[in-house]
Amino acid sequence: MKLLITRPMTAAVVARARAEFDVVIRSETTVLSHDEMVSALRDYDLVMPTLGDGFDAGVFAEVAEPRCRLLANFGVGFNHIDVAAASAAGVLVSNTPGAVTDATADTALTLLLMSARRAAEGERLVRSGDWPGWHPTQMLGQHVTGKTLGVIGMGRIGAAIARRCHFGFGMQVFYTARSDKSPGFPVTRLPDLQQLAAAVDFLVVAVPGGAETRHLVDEHVLAAMQPHAHLINIARGEVVQQQALVAALQEQRIAGAGLDVYEFEPEVPQALRDLDNVTLLPHLGTATEEVRSDMGHMALDNIAAFVAGAPLPNAV
Ligand code: NAP
Repeated sequence: MKLLITRPMTAAVVARARAEFDVVIRSETTVLSHDEMVSALRDYDLVMPTLGDGFDAGVFAEVAEPRCRLLANFGVGFNHIDVAAASAAGVLVSNTPGAVTDATADTALTLLLMSARRAAEGERLVRSGDWPGWHPTQMLGQHVTGKTLGVIGMGRIGAAIARRCHFGFGMQVFYTARSDKSPGFPVTRLPDLQQLAAAVDFLVVAVPGGAETRHLVDEHVLAAMQPHAHLINIARGEVVQQQALVAALQEQRIAGAGLDVYEFEPEVPQALRDLDNVTLLPHLGTATEEVRSDMGHMALDNIAAFVAGAPLPNAV
């Protein structure tokens, strides 16, 4: 069976893919074009796509009988794949849950601390050469220890963020999700997002992207937040209404935001880049060698299971 991997991978994943499969590894780091997606479905038995490879209904509609039987997504988020259209075309989809959890939670904490303590702004000040030296009222930020955390979507990553905040920073944890959660330490579910936004010092977005969660954090949720509060988004950019967030930051209706993801990624609006009260990371959530190798191995495990006729370990 012929396998297409749509991006360069770590050396460990490349070595295994070459040893176990008849594989083509695309050398570009950009998302697949429409024509490349059509060719992926038409010319390969197995495809390992990733973030931004938009296998939507239009792509499936162009390939009447796809040769491809499996899209083994590299990454837990699969909102770029129309799973219903894939299923209708007889194409299975899998993802890589778990492998990404701790690294993404670490990135959320990086952003939370950076935003609270104005670390990016301070770093820019030192680099500028204009730092006048320490004084008692310079660059006062938000204390983190003992504060309240609100998690939107207490799934694997949400719970890992909450665990870090509870055990590491003695924070009280509130959350919204579709069902009650018992992560093994005290957490309180609030009935709706606006109540959560109003109650906490740090509001962290950890729901999947897609039509159901698009603009879940809108102008009303942002308006409910307290002026000293910070918004952190490590999930998907489209979950937050970016224009409303820019306005809230410009008017200092919230104290700050820490973003790993953007609504129209990789485009980051100039209005956002001009603001000092936002910390901007280039989608670094899982960006470590070990984690990217674990993700690749998990995707290859799904491919190997499919080839062996076994159930997919991580079907979606
Ligand atoms: P997960 O375990 O499936 O958790 C998702 C959580 O969101 C669950 O608590 C779920 O609630 C809740 N949820 C789902 N749909 C919802 C809705 N419509 N309204 C309210 N809550 C909803 O997923 P995960 O592994 O934690 O990953 C979460 C997301 O993080 C991924 O989908 C991905 O997009 C993103 N991510 C980003 C990066 C990065 O590099 N920045 C890395 C990894 C993942 P229930 O359990 O009650 O259904």
